[in-house]
Amino acid sequence: MFEKTDEMKVLRDPVHGYIHVDLQVIWECINSSWFQRLRRIRQLGGANMVYHCAEHTRFAHSLGVYEIVRRMVTEVPDIARTLQEDEKAAVMIAGLLHDIGHGPYSHAFESVIGTSHEKYTCRIIEEDTEITQILEKAKKGLAREVADIIRHRHANPLLCQMISSQLDADRMDYLLRDAYFTGAAYGAFDLERILRTLRIIGSQLAVKQSGVYAVENYIMARYHMYWQVYYHPTARSYEYIIHTLFRRLMDLGETDDPSVIELLKPVASHRELTLQEYFALDEQSCGYGFESLTKHSDPILRDIAVRIRDRRLFEFADSSPAFNRRKRAQLKKQGYDLKYYWGRDTVQQTPYIPYSGEKDSAVWVAMKDGTVQELSNASNIVYSLIHGPANDDNKVFFPSGE
Ligand code: ZN
Repeated sequence: MFEKTDEMKVLRDPVHGYIHVDLQVIWECINSSWFQRLRRIRQLGGANMVYHCAEHTRFAHSLGVYEIVRRMVTEVPDIARTLQEDEKAAVMIAGLLHDIGHGPYSHAFESVIGTSHEKYTCRIIEEDTEITQILEKAKKGLAREVADIIRHRHANPLLCQMISSQLDADRMDYLLRDAYFTGAAYGAFDLERILRTLRIIGSQLAVKQSGVYAVENYIMARYHMYWQVYYHPTARSYEYIIHTLFRRLMDLGETDDPSVIELLKPVASHRELTLQEYFALDEQSCGYGFESLTKHSDPILRDIAVRIRDRRLFEFADSSPAFNRRKRAQLKKQGYDLKYYWGRDTVQQTPYIPYSGEKDSAVWVAMKDGTVQELSNASNIVYSLIHGPANDDNKVFFPSGE
């Protein structure tokens, strides 16, 4: 049995009202230095360059995911009945820690250092002295169990689905939270209704047929948020320029330029980062590091660092062979090194992926007639969305003709 806190801890949250904590192990995880580090990492890579209030952090999102999981295991009768107390604690902790390995600037950083936040998440849970100790003190083997839920390898597939599937606590929190902080109203959906209609069929999370409208709304919210917020070309332009800065820093390798501060040196040297080095890299420390790079002797690195500081982002245009040829020739003539001053990026979004053999991956609906249907068979809206033409966006990024 897990130790309780001396009183119920409540944290105010604009999305959920309150976050409720009454397990000591969860309270200790929240107060650990790795979890507190998430206060220094924003939730949205580049969207704050477009939506100026989108400054919310991974810290707030992680608490929100935890709260949705907590409500699932206490308020959804099927789940509350089916799971053991140990499993409930493990899945709540997995919700809390699922993003603990996120680095600064989301995918822009990951794509350069060639690793994924999932890998660091599991390393921190299983290898960091502080987090691992908190978990192992609460229950022997808990660190492994939590990491297994996040890796989708836990013996009980239900726990993995709650954290990561097409209808999971992670997506539900980030859609609501990102909609709230960007002001983009399309991201809102009826979380209460979804929780109320959740069921377990076999070992599978499902919704009652009467919850289908709320799920349709959630799928549409996701579709709109992708195009309006996550894939906004200006946000992508910012991510590209951050990516370019790290790439130039790595291409220059280890130098004795005094503007490269200590914490950026391991990145410049292409080494795999130790957990300690990774810990030091958050958006505040990198922001300081970038400011210092505005005095670097290399003109490209210096220029990119100034652009980031002053938000002089690259322009964007739809990619086409004729435009690209003309623009690239013009940039070359102006003396730009196209390795760093020409970016290309295609994004595609599938609002819902129908069943394709992996039962875990689809959303299932418990129909009134007693049958179980896959969401795209139970909803005309979802059916039309996935059978329509694929939506993609192909952009190029380049400095404007300043
Ligand atoms: Zn997340």
